[in-house]
Amino acid sequence: MEFDVLIIGAGMAGLTAARSLAESGVRVALLEASSRVGGRILTVREGEEIVELGAEFVHGKPPELWRLIEEAGLETFELEGDNLTFEGQRLQQGEDMGENFSAMEQFEDWQKPDLSFAAFLAQHPEIDDAARQQLIGFVEGFNAADHHDISVLSLGLQQKAEEEIEGDRLFRVRAGYDLVPQHQLARAQAAGAHLYLETSVESMDWQPHRVTLQAQQHERPVCFTGQQVIVAVPLGVLKSGSISFSPQPPALRHATGLCMGQARRFTLIFRERFWQSDPALANLSFFFARDAMPPVWWTAHPANSHTLTAWVGGPRAHQLSGLTPANLAELACVQLATIFARPVEQIRAQLLHCLAHDWQRDPCALGAYSYVSVGGAEASLRMSEPAQGTVYFAGEHTDTTGHWGTVHAAVRSGIRAARQVLDDRDNHIVA
Ligand SMILES: Cc1cc2nc3c(=O)[nH]c(=O)nc-3n(C[C@H](O)[C@H](O)[C@H](O)COP(=O)(O)OP(=O)(O)OC[C@H]3O[C@@H](n4cnc5c(N)ncnc54)[C@H](O)[C@@H]3O)c2cc1C
Repeated sequence: MEFDVLIIGAGMAGLTAARSLAESGVRVALLEASSRVGGRILTVREGEEIVELGAEFVHGKPPELWRLIEEAGLETFELEGDNLTFEGQRLQQGEDMGENFSAMEQFEDWQKPDLSFAAFLAQHPEIDDAARQQLIGFVEGFNAADHHDISVLSLGLQQKAEEEIEGDRLFRVRAGYDLVPQHQLARAQAAGAHLYLETSVESMDWQPHRVTLQAQQHERPVCFTGQQVIVAVPLGVLKSGSISFSPQPPALRHATGLCMGQARRFTLIFRERFWQSDPALANLSFFFARDAMPPVWWTAHPANSHTLTAWVGGPRAHQLSGLTPANLAELACVQLATIFARPVEQIRAQLLHCLAHDWQRDPCALGAYSYVSVGGAEASLRMSEPAQGTVYFAGEHTDTTGHWGTVHAAVRSGIRAARQVLDDRDNHIVA
């Protein structure tokens, strides 16, 4: 099976690159280990409920992603409602932490040597313990990161990047996020791209303008050859060594500057939105129970849905590692009984389903999403550099614009990798 360009991984990065190349007349093969496209976008439909087990939110107004959503004619809605904190045995408006978060504003103009967020906190004894715990909870929860590893320089770059796209606004795709990768696939295939599902790449041998991939397809060995390759698998997969590269592309050395973050999320579907019987909770959106496990929750407000979703990011996610949906459901019922001050039997009686996906144990992901470790702020830039007009990397971890760990980062990286491939072909680097 001979193609111009091979792409490994049909998440948003690989799909976007495939579409862009196919629309430019390049013969593309997209090789995907699982039986579906979309990677870490995973939507499950249970009765009338549409549940996201991977990416859920469109963060702000990144133009590349919104262009796709609009092109696909998908309806979206913006999150709104009350964000409450469980304090003093009840849900209430949390105290304004703006002052605490202002400590992080200095990251945007960070000129000193890079440090971890933990080292930064150690240098600031004036930040009191409550504020410290809240900041750690925020940095670890949002970035799925260990605060002992994550780089403050990268946090500054991320903050600036978010300001450019109104990143504090959150949107959902009403009919399911997976319709975005499906749209991208339809466009790529209409332009002639070939998709091979259940095709897990195990090794890549390459020399300038000649790439050979060995893969397992429906448990049979298959071989693909091409002039160029875009490697668009998650950072966790790259770091695990489950794909062997010969020789190792130089970009891979820089993967050490990035970490694959850990997160656990699960969604409970209830018979009714029982919490709304309390008028104070009628518009409940996010709620935080800092010392509980899981510590972060959200409703689907303002959507007409009966779900509650739980989230824990960073090292604390290990506490839920290996738990089945039934285990998670029981843990959640006990937590929610405390948070909503109701008998646990009442919550259990309301529960219909618990849906979860363990991204840490999924061999096609091996983690949630990437973050930058101390000294690694340039790692994704280095990983985005092509090798000899032949090997290119894409995926959220190779985004060079500070948006690591998001769907729009994956889209951007796919556009960038396709452009690099086309430039090299135009410049006759490829015969
Ligand atoms: C729980 C969770 C919640 C998230 N929430 C959000 C959110 O709200 N908003 C947001 O913007 N982002 C969110 N993200 C991050 C977002 O999902 C990712 O950044 C983005 O989807 C990554 O796209 P990608 O193309 O880089 O990688 P992926 O989507 O992971 O695609 C990589 C593909 O490579 C395939 N693959 C792996 N190994 C092989 C192999 N050997 N051979 C062939 N194929 C292989 C995989 O099966 C996969 O399809 C979340 C992620 C998780 C896990």
